Amino acid sequence: MQALVYQGPGRKALEERDRPGIQASTDAIVRITKTTICGTDLHILKGDVATCKPGTVLGHEGVGIVEVAGPGVSTFKPGDRVLISCITACGRCEACRKGMYSHCATGGWMLGNSIDGTQAEFVRVPYADTSLYPIPAGADEEALVMLSDILPTGFECGVLNGKVKVGGSVAIVGSGPIGLAALLTAQFYAPAEIIMVDVDDNRLAVAKRFGATATVNSSAGDAVAQVMKLTGGRGVDTSIEAVGIPVTFQLCQDVVAAGGTIANVGVHGCKVDLDLARLWSHNVTITTGLVDTFSIPMLLKTVQSKRIDAAQLVTHRFKLHDIITAYDTFSRAAETKALKVIIEAGGVL
Ligand SMILES: [Zn+2]
Ligand SMILES: [Zn+2]
Repeated sequence: MQALVYQGPGRKALEERDRPGIQASTDAIVRITKTTICGTDLHILKGDVATCKPGTVLGHEGVGIVEVAGPGVSTFKPGDRVLISCITACGRCEACRKGMYSHCATGGWMLGNSIDGTQAEFVRVPYADTSLYPIPAGADEEALVMLSDILPTGFECGVLNGKVKVGGSVAIVGSGPIGLAALLTAQFYAPAEIIMVDVDDNRLAVAKRFGATATVNSSAGDAVAQVMKLTGGRGVDTSIEAVGIPVTFQLCQDVVAAGGTIANVGVHGCKVDLDLARLWSHNVTITTGLVDTFSIPMLLKTVQSKRIDAAQLVTHRFKLHDIITAYDTFSRAAETKALKVIIEAGGVL
């Protein structure tokens, strides 16, 4: 089969690999129909993710069809169409029993990290019963690819942790796929204001279409003043960090109102300054966390009922044999206007 393989920092290649086989009775082999590329894959390629060893097939998002179900898999059978969670969960360990699947003792973020991932024709999914979700008949599979990672991440780590509420004010710093996923799912709670902050006018225009009430281009360096002006000098009840660099975390600290919450979603590769001297006396809460994907079943219903339109995040489509071009398009998003790219892997039975 064809698979996109991480070959070490800065290097990747589409290789011919053996199809994965069942290794544990609870495994399933899924024939990938659609997958995508994540900002996290670019982090791996930069050499930022030590747990991902050269030789690993990348990718942790996707939908497909069960090809083989191990004898211990009871929920799925060959031919079932499934959504793959980016988080693999045994469902039984202490962390899983708390719903903290990202810290599953024998699972967590494995696909495209510690084991081969979804940017291939086939993938082995451990603990299939608790790591796959059935796809309803007639569902838009491109939209569902957004449920493997980005919608649950934006919702759980941004909206829920950030305590977005009716009539509240929200600033989302970073209008990439994750920031936009937070923007889409924040609207479940009908906040009065959602201010999107980014350096890219195209992404801010997309945010406007997706429901932002105001946008701020931060490239001029006056983003704090602009957000303060938009909020009558108070700042926002929730500031969501969806970039992962010190300057954007600082912005989130600078615009949060007294009693507000800073919800960190971004993947940080270095330390940031914490303005504790100001934050403590303003009753500010800071939240961090990996996505657990416990919200996938709920989000699936909202996509099915068209409460949110997840498919609008898809800007480009490629075949698996063209995945190198897809990476190039995705990594030059400012020029190509890429948000999420769909990779079609075949998957016809
Ligand atoms: Zn991802
Ligand atoms: Zn577990």
